Amino acid sequence: MKINKAVQITLFVLLFCVSCQSHGQNRDITTEDHIHFLTRITYQQAMSDTSNSEKVVRSDEEWKKRLSSEEYRVLRREGTEIPFINKYNSHYEEGLYLCKGCGNPLFHSETKYNSRSGWPSYWAPIREDAVLEREDRSMFMVRTEIVCSRCESHIGHVFDDGPEPTGLRYCMNSAALHFIDKDSAEKDK
Ligand SMILES: [Zn+2]
Repeated sequence: MKINKAVQITLFVLLFCVSCQSHGQNRDITTEDHIHFLTRITYQQAMSDTSNSEKVVRSDEEWKKRLSSEEYRVLRREGTEIPFINKYNSHYEEGLYLCKGCGNPLFHSETKYNSRSGWPSYWAPIREDAVLEREDRSMFMVRTEIVCSRCESHIGHVFDDGPEPTGLRYCMNSAALHFIDKDSAEKDK
């Protein structure tokens, strides 16, 4: 009888553990979870994040669950948002713009300028390896597409009509960016 009881308890504990584990693994990540993940990144953390070695690879289904329909269209379907009425076109607070898909730091406010194009524009990424360039032959044009180097989501395009010191205009989509202001570390504590 004693042995049976011990076996029963062991089986119960094992089943409970397996159940917890599978529940944790299968829980769907929601848009709210994704926003929560992004808002927890502080300015200081992002400034010291210089590693691009870890790639972020997600299935199409997972991207759809994490992003809003507009974010998914821009980031994962190379979409372009409407000019002038997007979130960061006229936004000039001091801080960092991260990739909305994975939190990779992409642009610092110090490089943002008013290009009058209707989209947030920068003359350089925060680090050379923060973004990747790809040739884009859509819309009957040859353009240089900019994607995040970590999750390879579409962020925008780069053109050679920007201001000094680079002469480049990184023309980005607000929907592809998440801004954190310079004081976020202090606010969070
Ligand atoms: Zn990314």
